[in-house]
Amino acid sequence: MWAALYAREQEEHRLDVVAAEEWTAGDAATIGGLEASVRQLTAVIGGDFTAAPSAELRGLLQSDVVGRAERSAELANRRTDRAMALLWQLRELHHDDESKPGVCSCGRSLTVCTENGVLGAQAEAIRDWESSNLARLAAGERHALPETHPAVVAPPVTRRPVPGDSKRNDRRR
Ligand SMILES: [Zn+2]
Repeated sequence: MWAALYAREQEEHRLDVVAAEEWTAGDAATIGGLEASVRQLTAVIGGDFTAAPSAELRGLLQSDVVGRAERSAELANRRTDRAMALLWQLRELHHDDESKPGVCSCGRSLTVCTENGVLGAQAEAIRDWESSNLARLAAGERHALPETHPAVVAPPVTRRPVPGDSKRNDRRR
């Protein structure tokens, strides 16, 4: 009887050891995988992007890199938009008065208004920026035109109202 109990103990102990070894093997695989990822990341940080062999890791890194680039490009675009909106507003204050030759819209002579000269040099860039933003406004996209812009104050009617469509428009507002 003691021998049977001892044998059973031995068997249970053996099974515990097997289970423990399996757990350890699993942990080792996880640690091994993480170590491989660290090696790949180290290679990438070191500038050797092509050395990252794991497609999964490369995909993650690329989406992160692309995401960061897209966010900084978006920030740069918004900064440019703010500066151009400011130039547009200044140009509104200082442009050639069509009704009075040789006079700036601010009332001073063109030879006296230095702002007109400075802004006049950027007139084409300001016009191009305004045109692209007007197109965005018309398309219902995000635009950077100032709130004082005539097209923003009174948006142009882009389509004729369709009979029975007014209710749908009201609901959208
Ligand atoms: Zn002026």
